[in-house]
Amino acid sequence: MEKTFFIIKPDGVRRSLIGHVIARVEIRGFTLEKLEMRDVSREMLDRHYADLVDKPFYPEIVSYMTSGPVVIGVLKGSDVIHSWRKMMGATNPSDALPGTIRGDFAHASDDGSVENIVHGSDSTESAAREIALWFN
Ligand code: UDP
Ligand code: MG
Repeated sequence: MEKTFFIIKPDGVRRSLIGHVIARVEIRGFTLEKLEMRDVSREMLDRHYADLVDKPFYPEIVSYMTSGPVVIGVLKGSDVIHSWRKMMGATNPSDALPGTIRGDFAHASDDGSVENIVHGSDSTESAAREIALWFN
């Protein structure tokens, strides 16, 4: 059975959306294999977003993702990597369709930062890498 890694980002935790996000996982029928609240270190973030550390907006990601605790977890189920990405919706909340987590729970910000409630692995390779990174 396929597995994927997810994060409920600091805005999701701060806005008391943990239960709303987890409820969607449960209603959809995916198995919650791991679930844990964590503080995120800069070092962990650099490894998680290794492909983004050189981007001009990376400092914004750092301040966003270290602004408070996150909830991390592993989901298990058939085609769960792709399905979770669909459930999350588009990266930019202004492009995310209603019915998706980002489309229902987030909106575009004026200052250009992209706060979008959740993360999900984007491929089999990144799921394996991210699960190993966060859960050893
Ligand atoms: N991000 C940002 N500005 C951008 C692009 C991305 O702040 O121009 C942040 C945003 O929180 C996003 C994360 O960096 O979720 C990772 O970007 P990616 O392109 O991997 O999007 P995702 O896979 O999360 O949809
Ligand atoms: Mg990504």
